[in-house]
Amino acid sequence: METATRSVTRYGCFLPDLTGLARRPPAISAPYIAAERRRRNPPGSVARGHDAQVSAAYSFAMALHLFLNTFAGNPLDRASEHRIEPEWLARRLASDDGLAVALWNGRPLVEDGPDGGLQLAYLSARLAGELDPTWERLLFLGMRDETAVFAVDLEGQADPTASALQGLGRFEDLRLIALDLPQADAAIASTAKGMFEWRRRHRRCAACGEPTRPADGGWKRVCEACDAEHFPRTDPVVIMLPHHGDRCMLGRQESWPKGMFSALAGFLEPGEAIEEACARELLEEAGLHALNVRYHSSQPWPYPSSLMIGLIAEVEDEEGRPDQTELSEVRWFTREEAQALLAGELDGVFCPPRSAIAHQLIKAWAEEALP
Ligand SMILES: [Zn+2]
Repeated sequence: METATRSVTRYGCFLPDLTGLARRPPAISAPYIAAERRRRNPPGSVARGHDAQVSAAYSFAMALHLFLNTFAGNPLDRASEHRIEPEWLARRLASDDGLAVALWNGRPLVEDGPDGGLQLAYLSARLAGELDPTWERLLFLGMRDETAVFAVDLEGQADPTASALQGLGRFEDLRLIALDLPQADAAIASTAKGMFEWRRRHRRCAACGEPTRPADGGWKRVCEACDAEHFPRTDPVVIMLPHHGDRCMLGRQESWPKGMFSALAGFLEPGEAIEEACARELLEEAGLHALNVRYHSSQPWPYPSSLMIGLIAEVEDEEGRPDQTELSEVRWFTREEAQALLAGELDGVFCPPRSAIAHQLIKAWAEEALP
């Protein structure tokens, strides 16, 4: 590919397609969602998953797409069978109809959307391939119908929108704009960010310390010194809302902004079941004894590589005590107070925004919409 003729072809706008170059992939459901679930929960409702209610029909199921947290709901077919085909990947990367998402220091390239919000600003895959011919910074994200979608990591000091990507969009902090993006775009950006965070932290072999190289479209790293293969990691975190009677408990850490309270959370440890980790964390952090633990939903959280497992836990205690290590303060909230908290109408106290699973756990309990 001649870089001198590299065009600034850009995709992702809604303008009439006069040139054949401008095009945006259609919204589709993730390919693994069964037809019956798709019928019960059409694509339009998936896009508003923040506010969706869990159907009684799926009371005890881990419902697929009946409730979507921010960063979940990536609609791409990951097409993992193609990751191991270097020639296929190279062909798609060089083709005119491939797309690419760009990230710079964890920030996705975005542009203004048609409804006053934002949307991902897709580059041509060819441009992404020219920006990184080595594949070190490239990732095959998957297929959107017949279109191959890649991501390119432009980490570095200088903002690429001042040079190679001038006029093609702007880089924004994903967490800050998550609610301004369509759910699918937030999820696609989250997938790319999580993968690039892993790549940045695993450039050397964990077994022998030698440099690793990317393989399988960016989904694997291989050590040529000892042949070890390294795969992206996901770190499970339990995040839970304890409740007793008609009150739920939130806690705060000393380092948080003044007045902020949230659900309790902690990393799952080896040898623990999810419910056991929940019970342990409740006891350690707040002196609470769990009676039962219910699953609500989960959330990919690419900071850098967590999966937040959202739980609602009934506890036997009427009082709690913060451990003064993780939590500096705990506080009970009635349902009325919790609803006021969610609405931002409780004096001097606030909780995370609805893009955070903690917000959704509080909302589910306050509205008695528990699974
Ligand atoms: Zn090695």
